[in-house]
Order: sequence, then structure tokens, then C-alpha cells
Amino acid sequence: MLQVSDALRRIRPPATIAATGKARDMRAAGRDIVTLSIGEPDFDTPVHIKEAACAAIRRGRLGYPPVSGIPELRIAVSEKFRRENGVDYEPKEIIVCSGSKQVIACAFLATLDSGDEVIVPAPYWVSYPDMASMFGGTPKFVQTRPADGFKLRAADLEAAIGPRTRWLVLNSPNNPTGATYTRADYRELTDVLLRHPHVMLMTDDIYEHLVYGDEPFVTPLAVEPRLKDRTLTINGVSKAYSMTGWRIGYGGGPAALISAMDKAQSQLTGGASVPAQWAAIAALTGDQSHLAARQDSFRARRDLVVSLLNRAPGLDCATPSGAFYVFPSCEGLVGRKTPGGRTIATSADFADALLEDEGVAVVAGEGFGFAGHVRVSYAAADDVLREGCSRIRRFCESLT
Ligand code: PLP
Repeated sequence: MLQVSDALRRIRPPATIAATGKARDMRAAGRDIVTLSIGEPDFDTPVHIKEAACAAIRRGRLGYPPVSGIPELRIAVSEKFRRENGVDYEPKEIIVCSGSKQVIACAFLATLDSGDEVIVPAPYWVSYPDMASMFGGTPKFVQTRPADGFKLRAADLEAAIGPRTRWLVLNSPNNPTGATYTRADYRELTDVLLRHPHVMLMTDDIYEHLVYGDEPFVTPLAVEPRLKDRTLTINGVSKAYSMTGWRIGYGGGPAALISAMDKAQSQLTGGASVPAQWAAIAALTGDQSHLAARQDSFRARRDLVVSLLNRAPGLDCATPSGAFYVFPSCEGLVGRKTPGGRTIATSADFADALLEDEGVAVVAGEGFGFAGHVRVSYAAADDVLREGCSRIRRFCESLT
């Protein structure tokens, strides 16, 4: 029998991948399934980006890249940070990895020792706590509140910081809630961090270009430049440029941290795929006009889904200001029974029974550390969203 490692025993497969896999199996078995569990844009990579990868392949000589990324991409990322975010990172303060997921992994591998704590506000993206655990760290969860728009309060952050705290992880716009921190929100948190110089800040800005409110996107370092020597600013091309499968993410951080992450990456992948790096250069430096158009279409989808879900009895769906997820509460349905006699005791039961009875895949809040809610992705065509929401409403109406 296979003896798996302690590190592997500490982690779970992401709930998002599990939910989508179950839906895929049911569809393969002939069921008519509406998938609202996936976290990727439903449009294709823009043509000029694909062409840049093809041109790199045609030029040939695709040898191993420098571990932290080809110089041209590190320069393009440095310019992107300056132009779009108002933060200064020299190319030597940039690392390119196989997806932003791997930027996080390299950072934790490079910095965590057994017993070190990583503060993770809940609800959280599925991978932060498991990656911290995999590399020996201990996630320290801090619950946020729906009434605060699921944003971390400064007092709760202050209370969570201890002598072993290594990192605070922030993610805005947020997966799964869509919550988006404003400059004022960040100011309260960065003021706390200024008082605790041993705590590093990891900020995951991957949904930067999906913001729908009046306040523009801002990254914490632009709010508090004095945190430069302990902030890792993470971003990538997956969501904005519809490049999830290309696997390119990047991080900006102090040179010592980037060099430690380079050492970690040198023993993992040795560097990200070179044609994909050339494609990422085209993404960051080429025509950006599709971004506004996508933003408008995601905003319209958000409004559609929020209004349809709020017509389902027992669901309560707030209007988030970013990303492509809503995170409605299904607590009003706890204790009810499905027509088949199954009791809905938790949000996980709700998601399971919804998939069984109506063939709609969503992800239960338990996977994001916040029960009582489900995540519904609106990265899907309007007709798919209408069909999914009408099935969800029918399911809620069927509960007694
Ligand atoms: N961070 C968040 C909050 C995400 O939702 C995701 C993907 O779903 C990632 C990071 C991973 O992105 P990448 O494709 O760059 O690895």
C-alpha cells in the first residue's frame, strides 16, 4: 500500500476542483448539468497573445529560461506594476512562476518553518491554508462577517497577530465572496502591520481587472509604501487575459525574498514555460481594450445572477463589487427537506442535493472555511446563468 507523506496528509484537494470533477462525471454519465462551480473566464485568449506564443515557437531556441523568468517579461511586469498600480519593483524584484498559485507555493516554501503562522481571513481561496500546511506552516483563520462585506477588521487582525506570525494573506477582489478592499479599508490594515514589523504581507491581486464598484482597484503597497520590504504583490495573466491554461503568474517583492523564491523554484520547475512567458509579455504590453469590455459584461452578469438568486426563496445574495463570484447565504433553508426526503442540515448538503436533484454544480462554503453559504460562479454565458438560476429557484421552492 502507498505510504503518503505527512505533508500530503495535511492537505485536501481543492473543494472547487472536487465539485467541478463530480459535475463532469455526472455529465459523462448522461446527466444534463449546469456548471457554476468553475473559476475561469469563459472566453478565449485574445488572438495577439496566442500569436506571440506561436512566434516564439517559430523563432525556436526555446532553451531553459532563467529561473525567475526571461528578462523581457520581468521588465514588462515591472512596468505593469508602475503603470497600473503605482508601485515600484525593479526587474530583479520580480519572479515569474507557473501560475500565481506557484508564486504562493514558492513564497511559503522559502519562508515557513514548522510552527510559523499564516493569517488567513475566512472565507478564503481554497489553496492558502493547504499550501501553508504543506510547507510546515499553521494557518490561523480569522472569520470575517457578511455585515462587513466579508472584509477583515483591523481589530481582528491585531488580535490574531502573535510572535510566530509570518504572513498575512489578503485577496481582493476576493474569491469566493467578490469583496473588494478600498484604499480606506487597506489603510486600517496597513496601520496594524506597521506596528508589527515581523509580519509579511502577501497580497493576491489576481482579480484586479474585475472590479465593478465606484472605487478603482488598489493594491496595499500603493496605500502604504513603507511596507515595501515585506510585501509580496502577486498577480498573473490567468483571469484578466483568459490564460488559465498557460500557467503564468508573477510576484513582486523585496530582492532577498525573490532570491529565496528563485532558489525554491530552481528545485521545483526550474522556471515557467518559455512560449507562455512570451505570450504573457504580449498580454501585459499589447492592446488592453478587451479588459473594459469584459468588465462590462461581467458586471451585467453579476447583476443578472444577483437578481435571479434573490428570487429563490430562502437564499440571500448580496451584490459584491469584484471577481466573478457571488456568495449567497442558504442558511434560511437549513432544516428543510428535499422531495426525496433528504434533510438540508448544512450548506454542503444544499450543494450536494442541488447537484443531485437539479444538476447544478456550485461550491459549498465549507470548502472556503465559511459554512452557511455557497459560491456561484458567473463566469458563464447568460443563457447558462439563466438556466442555472432558474433550476436553483425551482430547487429552493421544492424544499418543505
Ligand atoms: N488566487 C486566487 C484568489 C484564485 O482564485 C486563483 C484561481 O482560481 C489563483 C490565485 C490561481 O491563479 P493562477 O492560474 O495564476 O495559478
